[in-house]
Amino acid sequence: MRFRLQTINNICGRLGIINEIERLPTFQMETPNLLFYTNGGCIPHLTHDVILMLTSDVLPLQIPLDNIYHATEAIIKLDVSVNTFIGLPEYLSFCTLQDPTTTVKQGYHKENVATIWSKHGKQFITKARHMELMESLKPDMYISLCDGDTNINSSKKRILNSARTTNEAFRYCYDQHVSSPTLCKKALIAPIEGGYDLTTRELCAKYLSNFPVVGYLIDGLYSDGASVHKIPFHSVEKIIDHTLKYIPVERLRIIQGAWEPQSILKMIKLGVDLFDTSFPCLNAENGCALVFNFNVENLFSENVQLVNLYHSKNENNIWKKELNNKNEYKSNSCVSNRDNKLNENNKISDGVQFKNNVNDEQNNTSKKNFVSPYSISLYDTKYFDDFTPIIENCLCLTCRKHTKAYVHHLLITKELLGMVLLMIHNLHHYMEFFRYIREHLRRNIGKCD
Ligand SMILES: [Zn+2]
Repeated sequence: MRFRLQTINNICGRLGIINEIERLPTFQMETPNLLFYTNGGCIPHLTHDVILMLTSDVLPLQIPLDNIYHATEAIIKLDVSVNTFIGLPEYLSFCTLQDPTTTVKQGYHKENVATIWSKHGKQFITKARHMELMESLKPDMYISLCDGDTNINSSKKRILNSARTTNEAFRYCYDQHVSSPTLCKKALIAPIEGGYDLTTRELCAKYLSNFPVVGYLIDGLYSDGASVHKIPFHSVEKIIDHTLKYIPVERLRIIQGAWEPQSILKMIKLGVDLFDTSFPCLNAENGCALVFNFNVENLFSENVQLVNLYHSKNENNIWKKELNNKNEYKSNSCVSNRDNKLNENNKISDGVQFKNNVNDEQNNTSKKNFVSPYSISLYDTKYFDDFTPIIENCLCLTCRKHTKAYVHHLLITKELLGMVLLMIHNLHHYMEFFRYIREHLRRNIGKCD
């Protein structure tokens, strides 16, 4: 696999191309772009036929090891690649470690081992076991074993342990990678740890920059996957910026997690190339449709705010104020108390929740509380007789064929189609957001200097 940087600007961001995948010679993807989150090898709620209605593009799939671990025994027995096993051989696969939509359980570290939580419970993954699994799964891209169990509250000792374990595991994985006839043709991504400690980040980045890998994953910024959108960008800006300074500019940079779109824009300005679709997926999972407007004149100006099409200007400002000052969402004007009750009574997740792991109870709670100023909740009874699409002029299948009232009805009656239609709209909207970002960069990158 090859990542080629096309244009770069220190103010606007950068454009690049991923291609030359050994298994997929015609695959080409421009960056900034998205990895498509999967759970158990599936994009939640979407079958292959429905994915083809969403886009004919060859998608890059993010396959977290923790949510497909239960299937690894079968994959090994069948002696097939993970792509063949999940029935999507034509798509690119990127095997990561932790599911970005779920909370990383803390305090389960062991020396030189990473802990993941699968459907079968707690699993300790050694570096040797990790490489055995990668050799069997044969993903097109994968990260070396890492300990990303750090967040803004982590102690210096925890951060140092996480960095040491990850760097040692990387050294081992790299040696195995280059000596394996199967893996040496795949792309190895190096995880950079260091929590919120600038010195440790710098040391890790400098160490890993000595190895000729395709790219880097900036890891260890959060524990609670569903609450990542509540992290104010200013708290991670310095960390990301500082880390990026010490890795070669021509290599791919990846950040995972359900960051809010405004933070995504700022990370792109800093020079991050790849993100994932956990944000639109979590919104859909909670009955929310993305409705933010990104079609603005100067997308990368300091003052730009992505506006919720259903909120007045004042309401948006209130949201931003809450987000920046308190680092938490107080309430959502489009979600009434009655809605909250409905959500509680109906247990939104019943039957349609991401089928995940033993951590479900804790994760379900955080997912049910997932409310974002970039969306509307279609559980809201005010959409009972709203016979308009989620967004006028949206070209997705959901908006062309169905109304808010219909999706509301499907959600209230717990019809699985409700989640399917929300996922189609949310993924389409998010893909359009990224397409607009790339177009905007192409048009303006020369003017930013
Ligand atoms: Zn739509």
